[in-house]
Amino acid sequence: MIDLHSHTWFSDGALPPLELVERAHERDVRHLAITDHDSLGAHHVLREQHLPEGLELIPGVEISCRWENLEIHVLGLLVNIDNPGLLTLLATQQQRRRDRAAAFDMAMQRAGICGLEKHLQSLPCEAVGRVHMAEFLIQQGHARNMQHAFSKFLGSRGRFYQKAEWCSLEEAITAIHAANGLALMAHPDRYPVSRPKFRRLLDEFGAASGDGLEASYSNLNVDSLKHLTDECVRRNWWASVGSDFHSADNHWMDLGRIRRLPPSCEAHAIWHHPRWAQIASAVTHAPARSTPVS
Ligand code: AMP
Ligand code: MN
Ligand code: MN
Ligand code: MN
Repeated sequence: MIDLHSHTWFSDGALPPLELVERAHERDVRHLAITDHDSLGAHHVLREQHLPEGLELIPGVEISCRWENLEIHVLGLLVNIDNPGLLTLLATQQQRRRDRAAAFDMAMQRAGICGLEKHLQSLPCEAVGRVHMAEFLIQQGHARNMQHAFSKFLGSRGRFYQKAEWCSLEEAITAIHAANGLALMAHPDRYPVSRPKFRRLLDEFGAASGDGLEASYSNLNVDSLKHLTDECVRRNWWASVGSDFHSADNHWMDLGRIRRLPPSCEAHAIWHHPRWAQIASAVTHAPARSTPVS
């Protein structure tokens, strides 16, 4: 199997890098991309480690971008993890995350909730995020669970919501290309937009030299899979697949739990891109299960 979207505790995933890799191996994932939010830290750690036999690590990152009033996530796959320009952009994004966290802390303090900054400083992450803030609110008894923390406090309509100054789509795509990677829009059907606005988003992503879409991922229904893979074929874009695994708590987003690309889109699969062959071995096994396992 293949899974090209996952997180470690370098961003908002629960597991340290080696444990993530071992879990993927146990689930028969042969090609795994770690794509932490705005961080390549897990890749820098893992290149010093012995990986399980038969598992290949694909370099990746998920960059938060601002497009109009939306936060759009762009995956950089097959990137050179030592590219100075990409590392500089990620360091800037990490600082934006710290600045945003300070603003969240102020908003919480005004409501009498103290200690967010201290909690965040105790974490191993490089890219501090709202999942960490949600964990703090749950620990402190202010939220019942993740969903509640986001809807009540942290989501775009939440009480403490703070906008971050993310980079533009063009900046992210340019940095990914400079690092020899491919830029794919992550989980395209999860953005709250109308059909016409979604088409405009894809048009502008293409105009900014985006390479394709993450076309199959956790919880994606068959209609959306068809829509996204058709877009890849129509626009001659590359298609990627990934679970967006964060933690074992979320059974629906487990590693490898992804629908297979339909035959109409197989030629567009990112593992057929020439860059793939420079970095990884051929994907000869079934890319993913035809339907998610229950
Ligand atoms: P951030 O990158 O810090 O702005 O946070 C975005 C991350 O929060 C996403 O990558 C998800 O992991 C997580 N997230 C967003 N919305 C929700 C939600 N409603 N419930 C749980 N996690 C969420
Ligand atoms: Mn996340
Ligand atoms: Mn994302
Ligand atoms: Mn993700």
